[in-house]
Amino acid sequence: MQNVFQSMDAGIWPDSLRDFKPFNTELCKVGNMLLRGDKLVIPHSLRSKILKVAHESHPGIEIMKRRLRLKVWWPHLDKEVEKYVKQCKACTLVSALDPPMPIHSTILPDRAWVDLAADFLGPLPSGHSLLVIVDYFSRFTEIIVMKQTTASLTVRALHETFCRFGFPESLKTDNGPQFISSEFQQFCSQFGIEHRKTTPYWPQANGEVERMNRTIVKRLKISQETDGSDWQWDLRMFALMQNSTPHSTTGVAPSILMFGRVLKDKIPGMIIKGNKILEEIRDRDAEKKLKGAEYADAKRSANDSGIDVGNTVVAKRIQKDNKLSTNFHPDELTVIGKTGSNVTLKSHDSGRVFHRNISHLKKLRAGELEIT
Ligand SMILES: [Zn+2]
Repeated sequence: MQNVFQSMDAGIWPDSLRDFKPFNTELCKVGNMLLRGDKLVIPHSLRSKILKVAHESHPGIEIMKRRLRLKVWWPHLDKEVEKYVKQCKACTLVSALDPPMPIHSTILPDRAWVDLAADFLGPLPSGHSLLVIVDYFSRFTEIIVMKQTTASLTVRALHETFCRFGFPESLKTDNGPQFISSEFQQFCSQFGIEHRKTTPYWPQANGEVERMNRTIVKRLKISQETDGSDWQWDLRMFALMQNSTPHSTTGVAPSILMFGRVLKDKIPGMIIKGNKILEEIRDRDAEKKLKGAEYADAKRSANDSGIDVGNTVVAKRIQKDNKLSTNFHPDELTVIGKTGSNVTLKSHDSGRVFHRNISHLKKLRAGELEIT
């Protein structure tokens, strides 16, 4: 890294750094880190660590490349990823199971979490089933582990999810008994969800979630093959990876389309991309702060109502004797000292000297008492 910094300064690239030279206009130094564009350049000694972290949950070559390219870069990153995945034993064990995906042309909705698909996967050897929910727009995926898949438990799981992320306009499922139950139908009509059923005996029709389920089965198999691993933990890690990796079709991480941000995982990164929403929030925040400052200014100038040493003022009553008591005590006071907002007063009647805050005082015009 130090050598790269030197070359950047000098504009001379030795042979040992020839892999960096083609990108020299994109390189920049931030603190003691090197960036290529908005991506963190990983030094040689840390690359294997990053590869290891990025391969947790066992993404395939393409997913792993997309996952890394979102945040980091180094020369020959792609080749190293290919080599790494090909050497992974677990990945080899589950490889070549994926039949090519039939091309399906679902019309893409224009917003996140509007059109969803849900499907059950299982039962697993443990007896659990997984309720998998996929958003057609963002490809955001929710995986819910369920002990039973009755209609009422399915409704409950969906209700919990929809109360968290909002209710969709449509939900596509197969003709499983939970989904054709009257309880489920009632749930959909209660929340205005259009229930779309796929053609019986043609699961491919629910392509998005079917594809996801095949990927999940792979992860579960790997998890089962790995000693001492907790499959539910692994599954959650898989969902995080899936939701924070740019999707092959949209080219954007589901979490960005869903929440406007990249979910933090173990891979280091510099810049959170695609944060229009954040920008709006920041603008709104700045506007609010400005208004707050204007308000404070107005208040301050009101308080700076020209009260000075020598003036005659009245003070707000600390305690009202009764409902009809005036806000200000009629006792006239002379300002004999002022430090910031702290004013020293002397009573005309009693001659008592005391302190009050300037905002509790009112100046009297020509010695007249104003009753408010
Ligand atoms: Zn692997």
